[in-house]
Amino acid sequence: MEQLKVEARGVWKSFGTTPVLKNVSVSLAPGEVLGLIGPSGAGKSTFLRCINHLEVIDRGYIAVDGELIGYRVGADRRLYVLPNKQLSAQRARVGMVFQHFNLFRHMSVIENIMFAPVQVKKMSRADASARATQLLKRVGLEDKANAYPAELSGGQQQRVAIARALAMDPTLLLLDEPTSALDPELSAEVASVIRALAEEGRSMLVAAHDLNLIRDVSQRVIFMVGGEIIEQGTVRQVLDQPTHQRTIQFFATMATGRRNSQDQG
Ligand code: ADP
Ligand code: MG
Repeated sequence: MEQLKVEARGVWKSFGTTPVLKNVSVSLAPGEVLGLIGPSGAGKSTFLRCINHLEVIDRGYIAVDGELIGYRVGADRRLYVLPNKQLSAQRARVGMVFQHFNLFRHMSVIENIMFAPVQVKKMSRADASARATQLLKRVGLEDKANAYPAELSGGQQQRVAIARALAMDPTLLLLDEPTSALDPELSAEVASVIRALAEEGRSMLVAAHDLNLIRDVSQRVIFMVGGEIIEQGTVRQVLDQPTHQRTIQFFATMATGRRNSQDQG
């Protein structure tokens, strides 16, 4: 059997006494793009953060490339939390892109992209710079290498953030609302970069409100509410022929929301 890129089984997570993920199981095959949708508070971001061990799960397990995230199994078959060094190594293999870009404001675009390869991978500055230049070209920003984040549009900043994530050669990319802070026009620029990555066969989990983005880039979609997976299937099944009342309701609310406001959803 082909090894899964991500295998999450029976994941539970609470904040205090409030359960936020309830028995979530997700599989991602290599090269697959999975869209995560659901109303605000559904647990999408928390789930992505658990994959990176930025949140510690209460029950279940998550493996990336067949390797348990955050733990090792001892000879006594109990789980032991990995030492920080190994946690960092695991994190370095998973790229993350956030809604608000989170670029280093005081560094130029190219320095942003070179930072982790130089600091974490100990890559030479010359190699890191050559690679960053390539990546900038790939996201259509080769002329912005020396600009500062504040000088860029939101869409450009997000494309830099994607290039920065790719610079670490991640085995998996997690994108959390990558277009939610952007106007439709700038969203389209970012979506086209994500679509190109999908076409190259990059494994990605994309959480988004933006159903156009989800439709554009995903092969499969999961719909979550209140920490539970309600429905999952192909894009066609979930977005075009949802069977669950809650999914149907969610799409109806989204459509009304779009009609009632000019916002980017
Ligand atoms: P989504 O991304 O689908 O909007 P989140 O994963 O951000 O959902 O949030 C799921 C639930 O967990 C929400 O009710 C949110 O308030 C809660 N939550 C998220 N992070 C924390 C935290 N660090 N501490 C307490 N509650 C949190
Ligand atoms: Mg979120």
